[in-house]
Amino acid sequence: MDIQAAVVREPGRFTIEHLELDAPQGDEVLVRVIATGLCHTDIVALDQHLPYPLPGILGHEGVGVVQRVGPRVEHLIPGDHVILSFASCGHCASCQSGQPAYCQYARQLNLATRRADGSCTHHAGSQAVSAGFFGQSSLASHALVHERNAVRVPKHLPLVDLAPLACGVQTGAGGVLNVLKPQAGSSLVVHGLGAVGLSAIMAAKTVGCTRILAVDLHASRLDLAAELGATALIQAGDTPSDAQVHAQVPGGVDFAIDATGVPAVMGAAIASTHRTGTTLMLGMAPPGASLKLNAALLLGGRTIRSSIEGDSVPAVFIPRLIELHRAGLLPFDRLCRHYPLDAINDAIADCKSGRTVKPIIVMPDAHA
Ligand SMILES: [Zn+2]
Ligand SMILES: [Zn+2]
Repeated sequence: MDIQAAVVREPGRFTIEHLELDAPQGDEVLVRVIATGLCHTDIVALDQHLPYPLPGILGHEGVGVVQRVGPRVEHLIPGDHVILSFASCGHCASCQSGQPAYCQYARQLNLATRRADGSCTHHAGSQAVSAGFFGQSSLASHALVHERNAVRVPKHLPLVDLAPLACGVQTGAGGVLNVLKPQAGSSLVVHGLGAVGLSAIMAAKTVGCTRILAVDLHASRLDLAAELGATALIQAGDTPSDAQVHAQVPGGVDFAIDATGVPAVMGAAIASTHRTGTTLMLGMAPPGASLKLNAALLLGGRTIRSSIEGDSVPAVFIPRLIELHRAGLLPFDRLCRHYPLDAINDAIADCKSGRTVKPIIVMPDAHA
């Protein structure tokens, strides 16, 4: 079938093109995409800091409506509304033990460019176009996904609003709700106020953290963090942010989150906690970067860990996030700004400049 897609042919730029898309096979599901959120991982792949073979289609926060299903699909039917999350195999030890974010085949599956049998799903004339990014490549009018990474949601919910749940919100909120699990009354600092960091702040408020510190370079992000639940704002800059955290909470906080992936900030996050505090790394550090750390920080009882996708099981966690949003406790819509597909390069520019936290690309026939 003929589809429209945002194709990356050269680093840093999308072009909107018509492509030919294969029919679904096996466990594949053809989804008419309604909207797709843009996430940091799309930008690093667009700029080829995360190499993804070009020409290719990105996008991993899709929402849409099932059009057709392959012969092995068991639980989805045409007309179902779905949120498209990350891909996992379902069979390895991590998947079998309820940790699909740590699937042994995560890299192959989420950076897939063609089917496992080697066939290509997307073509521009006779040219193969890489697709299968996070099992979806949803920056297009239609996507071919796997049953396992499509989470069915109730039809009465406005699909466009749900796009950021698939990765960014799931990662930040999951980091707090699934990984750190702070007790009511505890203290937490978030370094870096993008969609992930701001989602962590909202989640920390829902579980009763009473001291929620927010650190960022941009005053507008700090203002938004205050509206979403931060109780103290720290402008990153000349004074090291860990010293500013200690000035607010003597001895250090119970929990720290790094949502920047900047090594110096990751170190500051660890130094923000008290001797038995826990630091969670949610950012993506540049390839080959190393972390310079005062080794004395490791003499206490500190815990440092990382998480992918907030340790989420999407089919279980996304419905919980929708419930929190319905109850007014997770207003992630405050992070979003909508752009039509043909303005996707503007959306990228606004995301890079900090004007927009979470761009949502709305597909041309979203309201059809
Ligand atoms: Zn697996
Ligand atoms: Zn993402």
